[in-house]
Amino acid sequence: MILKLAYYGDPVLRKKALPIKEINEDIRKLVADMIDTMQGTENGVGLAAPQVHKSLSVFVVQFPDKNYTDKWVPGLIEVFINPKILEVSDEGWFYSEGCLSIPNLYAEVPRPVKVKVQAQDLSGETSIKEFIGYEARMILHENDHLNGVLFIDRIDKEQRQALENDLRAIKKKYSSR
Ligand code: ZN
Repeated sequence: MILKLAYYGDPVLRKKALPIKEINEDIRKLVADMIDTMQGTENGVGLAAPQVHKSLSVFVVQFPDKNYTDKWVPGLIEVFINPKILEVSDEGWFYSEGCLSIPNLYAEVPRPVKVKVQAQDLSGETSIKEFIGYEARMILHENDHLNGVLFIDRIDKEQRQALENDLRAIKKKYSSR
């Protein structure tokens, strides 16, 4: 089932998400719906629960296929429950990011190249994995959502200033819904 997205200006996007204590039927249903919503939305490659009005510590991503070059080929879907960023590299890089909650707005965002993350999967199993490059970026972007942080908070003042009008327009457009 496709869920209603929360857009920029919605207070739920600024809240810190609560840990998930028990991976029960409700959580499994939420995750299934989040995957539907991510896949059913254009350019959707990641989605965090606050983006569908649930202030809970879970996000889903769809990594690009390993054979992906310039055309996006969808690959593995992964679920991160109660994720914890254990380590990030000092080395960083800039790349263009967008967000389903901030439609049609993009900016060059600095992120660490590597991340080590601990999370539970749907069976409750905890594992620690390392991600590099674009995959690391996706995880850090979604994990930010669980802390009430958006990619526009991570860009420099001038870039942010340049986006201010568009941001105001997005806020206005979606707050009237
Ligand atoms: Zn986002």
